[in-house]
Amino acid sequence: MQRSITKAAEKKPGINILSIDLEDWFLSYDSSQISYDKWPLLESRVEQNTRTILDLLARHNQKATFFILGWIAEHHQELIKEISDAGHEIGYHSYHHAIPVNQGKEAFEDDLVKGLSLLEKITGKPVRLYRAPMFSLCNASAWTIPILLKHGITISSSYKSHHPFNNHRIPSSPFYFEHEGRQLMELPLNRMRFPLLNLVYTGSGYFRMLPLWLIKFLFDRNTYNMTYFHPRDFDENVPFTSLLPAYRNWMNSFGNSTTSIKLEELLKLFPFLTLSEAASQLKYSDMPLVKI
Ligand SMILES: [Zn+2]
Repeated sequence: MQRSITKAAEKKPGINILSIDLEDWFLSYDSSQISYDKWPLLESRVEQNTRTILDLLARHNQKATFFILGWIAEHHQELIKEISDAGHEIGYHSYHHAIPVNQGKEAFEDDLVKGLSLLEKITGKPVRLYRAPMFSLCNASAWTIPILLKHGITISSSYKSHHPFNNHRIPSSPFYFEHEGRQLMELPLNRMRFPLLNLVYTGSGYFRMLPLWLIKFLFDRNTYNMTYFHPRDFDENVPFTSLLPAYRNWMNSFGNSTTSIKLEELLKLFPFLTLSEAASQLKYSDMPLVKI
């Protein structure tokens, strides 16, 4: 892979993006803690928690991009239709939360084709957005980019910006890949960089843990903010399961009672965009390029 950053990132004012990764409370990491054959044995809470999010967004007339797990789409088709019919944007988030670098090329492509066709069948619309589980794309999985392009993906949100002293210097703002003349825009998970700290603050456990005043300060200070929430982040009664380690059970519920309140404050303060809306405000000529 030839990799070159050709232009410095130029941040545009006010790119605040709202995204939801649609998966159930018992899903963690790459599903290695609870394998997916056990998922049907656990209480499903994704519908009620997603409705909490949909109600919150409707109250503030804001739209989000929902990255849907294929397994969830298969088992909750009406819910996916409801999200799409409410005017939110649909993207794909893998079938069982497997990490692409662990899947390999063939399994990754099969997974992508299966999930995209299911979502397109349910919503009646083409799906052009993709997010890898755990923002896990990296140099070692650069082979995913041509496969994503081949199957019509034009916007990805699958990288997290890395520590500046790390080898993988992923920008903390939008960039794009080019492969055989075609572009794939990447809207990464951003971090706030302090001299000794690179802080994620825009979603999930980090958002639940941090105080609202600090979150508001960081959103205001950064001109590119990629939020990411899960339905479980809004659930004040996440069940305990002995199938997960103790720390994971604790992480599943820490600060959940504050998520709606904090997000509601942000929704009052900032206009948010879906990924496609954000992409339409960005120019490739202003973004760093990564050639594959
Ligand atoms: Zn996920």
